[in-house]
Amino acid sequence: MLKINENYLKLQASYLFSDIAKRVAAFQEANPATDVIKLGIGDVTKALPAACVTAFHDAVDEMAADSSFRGYGPEQGYPFLREAIAKNDFQARGAEIEADEIFVSDGAKCDTGNIQELFSVDAQIAIPDPVYPVYLDTNVMAGRTGIFADGRYEGLVYLDSTKENNYVPELPTEPVDLIYLCFPNNPTGSTATKEQLKSWVDYARENKALILFDAAYEAFIRDDALPHSIYEIDGAREVAIEFRSFSKNAGFTGTRCAYTVVPKECMAYDSSGNKQAVHPLWNRRHCTKFNGVSYPVQRAAEAVYSRQGREQIKELVGYYLTNADLIAREIGKLGFSYAGGDNSPYIWIFGNQDSWEFFDMLLNKAGVVCTPGAGFGKCGQGYIRLSAFNSHENVERAMARIKKALS
Ligand code: PLP
Repeated sequence: MLKINENYLKLQASYLFSDIAKRVAAFQEANPATDVIKLGIGDVTKALPAACVTAFHDAVDEMAADSSFRGYGPEQGYPFLREAIAKNDFQARGAEIEADEIFVSDGAKCDTGNIQELFSVDAQIAIPDPVYPVYLDTNVMAGRTGIFADGRYEGLVYLDSTKENNYVPELPTEPVDLIYLCFPNNPTGSTATKEQLKSWVDYARENKALILFDAAYEAFIRDDALPHSIYEIDGAREVAIEFRSFSKNAGFTGTRCAYTVVPKECMAYDSSGNKQAVHPLWNRRHCTKFNGVSYPVQRAAEAVYSRQGREQIKELVGYYLTNADLIAREIGKLGFSYAGGDNSPYIWIFGNQDSWEFFDMLLNKAGVVCTPGAGFGKCGQGYIRLSAFNSHENVERAMARIKKALS
């Protein structure tokens, strides 16, 4: 008799986006004349940058001729892309990362979900609340938690991100082994300073822990004082793995390309207490379970670093940041306290009421869709998330409607 992995039975069904869709559909049926404006989703809405499209086309043409056709590529990614990443995203910012420490993949979702496989099932995991749900669910699947009770899984250390700590969690008071951090944060839009990241790096070094740093929204940082990478912090090479993605900076959510940085100094320990480098383990996993991102997609990603690509990406991110500015300004004028919106496409708004009531109110009175904060964890109750990934026109209309509905 085949038995299942019962850890899957512990997972809480994610009703968040289906519940949102149901409520929107019901509203739309009752109000067919209202065009609903969606500021709920985290998906981008604008086309790929022209430089990426050209590189993509050219690479497809190469695939169309026997003389330039490419079959399986290196699982870790083509050297042209790994070198461009190391040079532009890290070395240019003074972070010592080499091309062979970069693993190109088809998404930060898969990588942040898969990385936990390398570590023991009894590793103590620290996860922020609210959180991008992938970190949590993949640890539940792997059996690192108990049951779900009172809005939380037993056996995890939750790192509360609240108004009081400016949505940057404090160091845990109990020892932990693996720490998930995400800055700029989804869903709170908060960012971490160099000093704050340094305290996490120091903690990890002192406790033989490892930080999993998700920087998928790095391109939205416009405050020069903020670090873009955890490797801008001294000592981070020993204790941090970083995840990046072309999804949000270059609109690759449907094209799929991302990468993970595993420095050669990153260590974990075997049961005898001997150090084991993480890099060869991730390399082994990646080569065994993944067969590389397609050549045209890697060429399109490489174009992100060309002169035109860089300019176009700045413009694209700037477009969404203008929306984020507008949302934050108007929400502030309405008297709500909020976080994010300045170095992030997300605005995290404290509604001082149940997240779903807030959601229903915005939908019914303004025809605007948000994401209820409770869907991201216990600490998200009372909040909603608005996203800047829409057109200027729609964001202006949405904010005018919200203002009218609330005044
Ligand atoms: N990490 C965070 C924090 C995200 O919000 C998202 C997507 O919304 C991802 C990773 C996924 O990125 P990708 O499209 O590269 O899988």
